Amino acid sequence: MPILTAVLPVLATAIVPSFAVGGCDAEEPDASPRQEGATIARRPNILFVFSDDHAPHAIGAYRPHLPHGAWMSGVDTTPRIDKLASEGVVFTRSFCGNSICGPSRATILTGKHSHANGFRRNGNKFDGDQWTFPKELRRAGYRTAMIGKWHLNSDPQGFDYWDVLPGQGHYYNPVLINEDGRRTVEGHCTDIVTDLALGWLEDQNEEDGPWMLMCQHKAPHRTWMPAGRHLDLWADEDLPAPPTLFDDHADDAPGALTSQMSIGRHMELFYDLFVTTEDGTVPQGGSALDASGYRNLKRMTEAQRARWDEAFGPRNAAFHAAGLEGEDLVRWMHQRYLKNYLRCVRGVDESVGRLVDWLEEKGLADNTIVIYSSDQGFYLGDHGWYDKRWMYEESLMMPLIVRWPGVVEPGSTVDALVQNIDYAPTFLDIAGAETPANVHGESLVRLLRGETPEDWRDAIYYRYYEFPGAHQVAKHFGVRTATAKLMHFPELDAWEQYDLVADPDELTNVFGTPEAAPVAAELAIRLGELRAQYGDR
Ligand code: CA
Repeated sequence: MPILTAVLPVLATAIVPSFAVGGCDAEEPDASPRQEGATIARRPNILFVFSDDHAPHAIGAYRPHLPHGAWMSGVDTTPRIDKLASEGVVFTRSFCGNSICGPSRATILTGKHSHANGFRRNGNKFDGDQWTFPKELRRAGYRTAMIGKWHLNSDPQGFDYWDVLPGQGHYYNPVLINEDGRRTVEGHCTDIVTDLALGWLEDQNEEDGPWMLMCQHKAPHRTWMPAGRHLDLWADEDLPAPPTLFDDHADDAPGALTSQMSIGRHMELFYDLFVTTEDGTVPQGGSALDASGYRNLKRMTEAQRARWDEAFGPRNAAFHAAGLEGEDLVRWMHQRYLKNYLRCVRGVDESVGRLVDWLEEKGLADNTIVIYSSDQGFYLGDHGWYDKRWMYEESLMMPLIVRWPGVVEPGSTVDALVQNIDYAPTFLDIAGAETPANVHGESLVRLLRGETPEDWRDAIYYRYYEFPGAHQVAKHFGVRTATAKLMHFPELDAWEQYDLVADPDELTNVFGTPEAAPVAAELAIRLGELRAQYGDR
């Protein structure tokens, strides 16, 4: 394992030869007692904090690196994640392979694209019997835990402990499931998941070896319900709006016109934005979505609901009094949406802060790798949209921030193309365990050390399957390099091509123009090579 060998000298902690236990076939970790007086092997702990739908341009540390995030400049969204980034590395070209919740999670567990792990769209059932990195980490002697949003429709495997939200989970007073059964826990989901994660960490003993914890939040997933203490953030100010809020998709991009994720045309005033009716009640007997939104409010305790109504009651009354229409209405909806989204993000940010503070209090910070990521990006009004799914930048990107004291240069960036297929091999490399050859991803450890391998990938592969389905985004697949993107819509017999240098907002489809033809030919060849490499047909 050459990468592990390369990492060893820079680890501040003492190492003994028993360090490398990866690749053994034993089902249980080696339980043999450690030698008295010997230096204890200290492979790093791995804390993976993962959220749902957290767009990189909603993270302060990302914005200097994102053309499409400039409009969010100056909004203080994520002080603790930004601090983590200042002490670690920001991956500026970090992507998913299928921009939706379940598939991204399945890819992270397996290191494989959707067609190979079998989880192509939400609603699929993850085959938990297949190889996953937590199973391999356990074999390598790590204690493993999964707490929070799972969303794979089968029980977690490969964890010493798991405690997960069923399905999408609820923001308020969520149900949780572990091996003992179901229970409802009072509070806000982000806080509860953090409490459970800290509780599990408190129960671990350092002499039992390293651990890997996946702390996975529901937030900031739709429908955006922040904790009571965050409801007044940005209440008295206007947040910026993206320059593409009124994108008319006039560039002959075939898929965009048929999708259903426009703030102006598809977002729901009640379900998405919690605008109650004029007399202060919620509409009953409305759409199925409204009924679901109503149930979300009904989950609250009296005190939680009183706080909610205190915050939104006067704002809803002002909305009804204003009688907004047209673009004014869309701008209002965008403000309500973005503020609630960012309030949910603030809860996640506080979670990161609590977890990092705990590591520092316990003296574990120097020997724990902290990773912050989210399953895909999201539209914050960009192109007029909310939601994800598209291979366009806002939803193709995933945040990836890693703090690894003594290895990662604080405040650094990595511009290499990385993808969620790389997480599993990275975690195993960190642990000194082997990754099977059929895993698609590559370990990021060399990149974390600040090296730029000459043979690193020059393109990433993407494929979205969920059509027909929520938001009606057409099936597509494609390739992205450092500077260009090619997308194919097989059922529309259509292509899109973007020059990411000249047109970072992807407003002009250049496919079919004579000027773009040479690049299109190169991208098409690369796309075919990637499909062959990953065995996708
Ligand atoms: Ca998601």
